[in-house]
Amino acid sequence: MTPSKNRRIVLAARPEGEPKDSDFRLEEVEIPSPGDGQVLLRNLYLSLDPYMRGRMSAGPSYAAPVEVNGVMQGGTVSEVVESKFPLLSPGDTVLGYGGWQEWAVESADTVRKLDPAAAPVSTALGVLGMPGMTAYTGLRNIGQPREGETVVVAAAAGAVGSAVGQIAKIKGCRAVGIAGGAGKCAYVRNELGFDACVDHRGASFAEELQAACPKGVDVYFENVGGAVLKAVAPLLNNFARVPVCGLIAHYNATALPEGPDWTPVLMRLALTRRLTIRGFLVFDFEGQRGEFYREMSAWFREGRIKHREDVVDGIENAVSAFQGLLQGRNFGKLLVRLVR
Ligand code: NDP
Repeated sequence: MTPSKNRRIVLAARPEGEPKDSDFRLEEVEIPSPGDGQVLLRNLYLSLDPYMRGRMSAGPSYAAPVEVNGVMQGGTVSEVVESKFPLLSPGDTVLGYGGWQEWAVESADTVRKLDPAAAPVSTALGVLGMPGMTAYTGLRNIGQPREGETVVVAAAAGAVGSAVGQIAKIKGCRAVGIAGGAGKCAYVRNELGFDACVDHRGASFAEELQAACPKGVDVYFENVGGAVLKAVAPLLNNFARVPVCGLIAHYNATALPEGPDWTPVLMRLALTRRLTIRGFLVFDFEGQRGEFYREMSAWFREGRIKHREDVVDGIENAVSAFQGLLQGRNFGKLLVRLVR
């Protein structure tokens, strides 16, 4: 039965530290109507991504925050239900930015039509979408891996990290993953084909990482920061490249970490080992979207790039799923399925 109301999650308050249940509110409102040039979308999948933590805070960032009482933003795969735009019809599947809600009205020129025959539509939010393109472009443009080099990536069982290591293998590198827990590490090694994977929660993490990188580290794809960066940094080779993609270990931080200032150690390494440490945002490489999609979808079809989705059902479970993402509870690309 088609629902008569739109259920959505709004930001009720700006979180201090870890987002709490009370920072969000589930609302039921009327389903909106599209105007000229717009489409009414029934959202099928909502993508939950670490960047959303930044959107909840008012501090300076590369993107404006969600307003308090505003609908949480997020990428969606949706079905067109009503169209006031000639090139889209009811029944079409589109990639858009519908947010944490079951229904959305969007401008037709901000959505992209998907071909459900080409790949499962949910992959447009994962391996063939923003996270996959982040892995592809960050590794290619900044990591610049060469055959025989060692590429290390943290959050290796996740959406970005899993793709980084598999692309590194395709390029003839040694791929070493870092992940939380034995189950994720076994998956990264056995299913994704990394050469090694080390548990960052283990007591001998730094020693195991060093053993997994006998020739040092040429590319460290930084997803995490914190203790993981401290363990990787001494292993970096001369002229190593560090694409700084994300720092998830710090996203809930409300103050600088306690303890000695580690900046001089890192900067000395940068100097003496002539490191390239460069941050990037996926949209810096928008011009490479076509190449990314062609190459990545070919690898995906050929089974050379595998992916895993962690699917949670129902908009009412989006908040707890997002809280889990920041604690490592997700295992694969985190999605909320909104229609069953
Ligand atoms: P994932 O699917 O990898 O999920 C997040 C994972 O991060 C968790 O499962 C957990 O994995 C790990 N994690 C969480 N907290 C910590 C911590 N304190 N210490 C170590 N690991 C932690 O997410 P994505 O693949 O979507 O994103 C990975 C990174 O890429 C994030 O930092 C994100 O912000 C960044 N990103 C950057 C983009 C850009 O344009 N620069 C675009 C997209 C993503 P585990 O249990 O294995 O530790």
